[in-house]
Amino acid sequence: MDYSPSAKELSHFPFLKKAQDHIKKSFPPVDQLLKEEKGTFLTGLAVRRINQALASKKNISACFQHRDDEEIASYVLARIIVSCVQDKQLYDRLTRYEAERAYYFLNSETGSESEKGWNENAVLDDEQNSRIATYIAAEFAIDLSRDRMPLADYIEIVSVLHEERFKLVNRRVRKGYVEIKKEELLELLRERIRVILRRDLPYHVPKAICEQLAPVAESIKKEYQEKMLQQFGSLEESAFPPCMQALITALTSGANLTHAGRFALTTFVHTVGMDVPAIARLYARSPDFDPEKTMYQVEHITGRGGSGTEYTAPACAAMRTTGLCVNPAPLCERVSHPLSYYKVKKRENAGKVIKKANTQKIPPT
Ligand code: SF4
Repeated sequence: MDYSPSAKELSHFPFLKKAQDHIKKSFPPVDQLLKEEKGTFLTGLAVRRINQALASKKNISACFQHRDDEEIASYVLARIIVSCVQDKQLYDRLTRYEAERAYYFLNSETGSESEKGWNENAVLDDEQNSRIATYIAAEFAIDLSRDRMPLADYIEIVSVLHEERFKLVNRRVRKGYVEIKKEELLELLRERIRVILRRDLPYHVPKAICEQLAPVAESIKKEYQEKMLQQFGSLEESAFPPCMQALITALTSGANLTHAGRFALTTFVHTVGMDVPAIARLYARSPDFDPEKTMYQVEHITGRGGSGTEYTAPACAAMRTTGLCVNPAPLCERVSHPLSYYKVKKRENAGKVIKKANTQKIPPT
C-alpha cells in the first residue's frame, strides 16, 4: 500500500509503530525530558489521559488543543506512569480507554450528515474503509475487506466478549472461517487493539525514571483508590458472588484454602474496600489461623509488602480454570468478573430496598 499516515492520523492512533517512530526525533530521552518544562507539560497531558481512563463518564474529543507529537508523547508517558504505579486494574482501564478512543476515531473519521469528521484528508476505498482504518487493521492482523475471519483468530478475539451475537453457536462457520458482518469488524478490531496494548503492559521502566515520576504516580494511585471506594461503596457481604461466599464458608468451616483460593479471596475483598486488618480478621475465622503469616500474605497481595504491586482478583475464566467457580448463580451468566457480579448485585439489592420502601404503607401521622 503506497500510503503513509499523516501526523494528524498518527496522533489519533498513537499506539501505531509509526506513531512511536514519528516522535523519536521530536523529544529527548524520557529521563532528560522529565527534567525540562516540556516534560512537565507532557506529564500533565498524560495524567489527564489516565484520569479520563478512570472516569466513569468519558469525554473523547477528536480535536486536540496541542500538537500531534505532544498527543502521541502523552500516550507513551501515560503508559510509563501506570507501569510505575504497578496496578493491574490501572493497566486494564487505560488499555480499554485507548481501544475505545481508537474505535470512536475510526467511526467519526468522515463524520455524518450532522457532524463533520475529524479527518478532512480521509480517502475511502470501494468497501468504504478509510486508508488509516485499513492500515491499523493490517497492523493488528485483521482484514477489513473480508467478511470472514479464521476460526482461531475469531475465538481468540471474542473470548472475553459476552454478547450473545459473538458466541460461536450464533455464527455461521464454513471451512475454518467465521462469517462476520461488516459493522462488526471494527468492534473486533477494537477488542484486538485492547488485548495487544494490555499484553505490552507493564513496561520495564528504569527505577530512576519511576523515581522522577513518583509524585505523579502516587497521586494517581491515591485518586484511583478513592474512586474505587466510591464505586464499591460500603462493604456488603451478601452481594458477594457464589465463588467468594464459598471460599469464606470453606475458611470458616476449617478447610485449608489453596493458594489460588487465598489469592482470589484476598484480592477480591481488598478491591471491594476491606482494609488489611479486616482481611486478616476474615482469615481469623480459619481454625489454623496464623496471624503473622496471614498479615505477611495479605500485605504482599495488597501491595503493602514492599513490592508495591497490587494484584487484581481473577476473572471468571481464570476462576473456572482453578476450580474456584462454584454454584454459579443466574447473574453469573451476565458477568465475566466476580467484581462485576458484586457491583450488579449491590445495585440490585439497593433497588429492592427502595422498591420495598415505596410499597410499604405509610404509617398515619
Ligand atoms: S461465574 Fe464468576 S462470579 Fe459467578 S461464581 Fe463463577 S467465578 Fe464467581
